[in-house]
Amino acid sequence: MIDIIEYPTLKADHYLELLSPESAAELTAVAGRFRDSRVIHINSTAYGGGVAEILHSLVPLSNALGISTQRAVITPRDARFFDVTKRIHNMLQGAAGELTEEELAIYYGCLDDIGAEIDEAGLSADVWFFHDPQLLPLARLLDRGAAPTRLWVVHIDLTDPNPWLMERLLPLTRAYDLLICSLEDYVPRDAPGDLGIFVAPPAIDPFAPKNCDMPRHKAADIAKALGIDVSRPLVTQVSRFDFWKDPWGVIDAYRLAKRSHPDLQLALLGLSQANDDPEGEQVLRSVTEHSDNDPDIHMFFFPNDLPASNDEIVNALQTHSRVLVQKSTREGFGLTVSEGMWKGKPMIGGNVGGIRLQIVDGESGYLVDNATQAGERIAQLLADNELCARIGRNAKDRVRQRFLIPRLLNDYLRAAQQARSVAPQPVC
Ligand code: UDP
Repeated sequence: MIDIIEYPTLKADHYLELLSPESAAELTAVAGRFRDSRVIHINSTAYGGGVAEILHSLVPLSNALGISTQRAVITPRDARFFDVTKRIHNMLQGAAGELTEEELAIYYGCLDDIGAEIDEAGLSADVWFFHDPQLLPLARLLDRGAAPTRLWVVHIDLTDPNPWLMERLLPLTRAYDLLICSLEDYVPRDAPGDLGIFVAPPAIDPFAPKNCDMPRHKAADIAKALGIDVSRPLVTQVSRFDFWKDPWGVIDAYRLAKRSHPDLQLALLGLSQANDDPEGEQVLRSVTEHSDNDPDIHMFFFPNDLPASNDEIVNALQTHSRVLVQKSTREGFGLTVSEGMWKGKPMIGGNVGGIRLQIVDGESGYLVDNATQAGERIAQLLADNELCARIGRNAKDRVRQRFLIPRLLNDYLRAAQQARSVAPQPVC
């Protein structure tokens, strides 16, 4: 099934004000070149995870700049599709193994159906952005006339992908004009020579409820309603319960810091489990065991009976925490890093992938290679308010300069322009 997500109308002015006058003029000019084009972004989950988060802001902003832009979300007919695509995701991030014939058949079969539905529904656009490996085989099924320009956007960490899988997936990129990766390091060495390449790191929406300024008292009230003792320090990781986010390592780091700060509490916030990620509950069980009934470890997974919306809770815990952590062992980008830095908080991140792009170690946060280093940094920051304030200020500045959504839209449009220059145009 394919759903088109509707968004309320947005005004672009305050987004343009985030940019320098030159960058704002550049974005307006490049948007002008797409005024007569129809653009579709298609991905595999309406809600949960970074891609949904980005599109939720980027699509309305694109419309606000006069580009007719739609967001389509697929629902595969076979629920096992997401088990397979999560395996693909894990393997592209380095997990060993091979897919079975049955798994490959589920992957291709579900997308064949989606392709047929797109045809039947007459869904067409001049520029298609296909997000992540879930959608990779789809472009080859669409008629060139209906979709002249096709971009594949990969949001995951491709530093060390599983070679067996890469050998099978890379030929599918022939149906695309251009590949967008989050980092230069992720560009596959064996990508077809005529495939355009564009590097565009993701970005956050500073006006979204998750990122807008939240008064401290409101953040504290929400934290309190979640059962956190607001008179004691809190360290938080906001992340799906996922193997690569290393929640076990976060607990180890917290335990180490707690030796010198016995009143420390930890929050692991994983409310927005994406429906294309079936592994969350299993990881949650293992992490719960690892937490060993520590009453100062607060884990949030089930989105029922909450004192506020998911976005407000993310904002509240990032605003209220003294220190934030994103201790991933693989991370395509990690929006949560920029989200936390935007709150002016010191962020301790795993020294991997997109986290390295966001945090300048020792200036706008800290990069760590293991739980011990993370624990030492938490303890150091808790003991030094001035250090927290300085790192937090630098963190916010860095996000302002590099990781806000108008820059990303500008990148996507420039990428589409580059792709257009190589894409065969439909015969009228
Ligand atoms: N997120 C959320 N609620 C949660 C946990 C995560 O809204 O309880 C959001 C988080 O704020 C971020 C997104 O999910 O916007 C995660 O994106 P990221 O790029 O960090 O990781 P991904 O899940 O895509 O691997």
